[in-house]
Amino acid sequence: MNTIYFDNNATTRVAPEVVEEMLPCFTEDYGNPSSMYRFAKKAADRLALARQRIADLLGASPEEIIVTSCGTESDSTAIYAALRSNPSKKHIITSRVEHSAIKNLCEYLARKGYRSTFVPVDKKGMPDLDYLYDHLTDDTAIVSMMWANNETGVLFPVEEIAKNLKEKGIVFHTDAVQAVGKIPIDLKESSIDMLSLSGHKLHAPKGVGALYVRKGTKFSPFLIGGHQEANRRGGTENVASIVGMGKAAELAAAHIADENSRVRQLRDRLEKGLLKQIPDSLINGDPENRLPNTSNLSFEYIEGESILLMMDELGICASSGSACTSGSLEPSHVLRAMGVPYTAAHGSVRFSLSIYNTQEEVDYAVEKLPPIIQRLREMSPFWKQ
Ligand code: PLP
Repeated sequence: MNTIYFDNNATTRVAPEVVEEMLPCFTEDYGNPSSMYRFAKKAADRLALARQRIADLLGASPEEIIVTSCGTESDSTAIYAALRSNPSKKHIITSRVEHSAIKNLCEYLARKGYRSTFVPVDKKGMPDLDYLYDHLTDDTAIVSMMWANNETGVLFPVEEIAKNLKEKGIVFHTDAVQAVGKIPIDLKESSIDMLSLSGHKLHAPKGVGALYVRKGTKFSPFLIGGHQEANRRGGTENVASIVGMGKAAELAAAHIADENSRVRQLRDRLEKGLLKQIPDSLINGDPENRLPNTSNLSFEYIEGESILLMMDELGICASSGSACTSGSLEPSHVLRAMGVPYTAAHGSVRFSLSIYNTQEEVDYAVEKLPPIIQRLREMSPFWKQ
């Protein structure tokens, strides 16, 4: 049975070109990039090229890129950088639909003497910007709003928010872990101060990420140690993975048009095929303003996790918007914040595609899924026969 992988917002296949570029870092040019001799210079050169490629994908300069161990570390670094370099300010603003990397950190900080404000979203998952601006105070150290939502793909107007905050002198960070490589980003023309990304969402390995910090932004390191990353993040660099992330960034720049045309068409074909055949099914989020690869669908009156298990039997991988916590199925905080009714939130499934998906895979899913949903509904006490 072949695997049909529709879970690319969870993680992605490492591109073969990325693996190829990484291999010599383990076996040939394995020096420590901080060492003095010429042999180590090869690793340092590889690192420099990777940093340049990451910067190029973002329209940034290499000195503005700090390499980290993951998207979560990039997010923590950004928030702590703002708080530590403005110690008198104790207020953070974020949204109600952030990934746990930001959500749980802001909740934690709220228990540790800071104040966190969570901006609500509307039915489509778009943030209430009046609420955001109304809650700014002289005490606000940072605003952090995600660029693309990991569950629905909904895109926040981060450029507009950043511009407004710049005028007020407030630092703006965006968690762009799901956006980078999927939509064009050009930080040259933007007011965004900090931006997080993660390698494994763009066909690089897991366990490597980056934080963009605009030149001139006040910064204080999160990992304190050696002088690596221009004294901004201690720890010997994970050279192979960073080199992989650099290659992945180069490939993403080349594939972005494909992502926005072919991948989008595949996603739309999947979505239309399913919605047409399955009654009481709907799109969660803004159907227009979202990532080209993501479709979050609700099949009412059944559990998303049951759908996933039956899809797994067919080799199809996707995610559900409900998670089993302490024996009961809880709809995700994202769908709850959007006010998706429980009957729909429970039956939500996220399909996230990549350049490696094919029309045959989409057509297979469109053929196999409707009978699965029908069978589960026949077993559901909530389904009206
Ligand atoms: N932010 C968003 C929006 C994500 O989707 C993820 C991962 O799913 C992260 C942050 C965390 O990234 P990492 O897994 O590299 O720590």
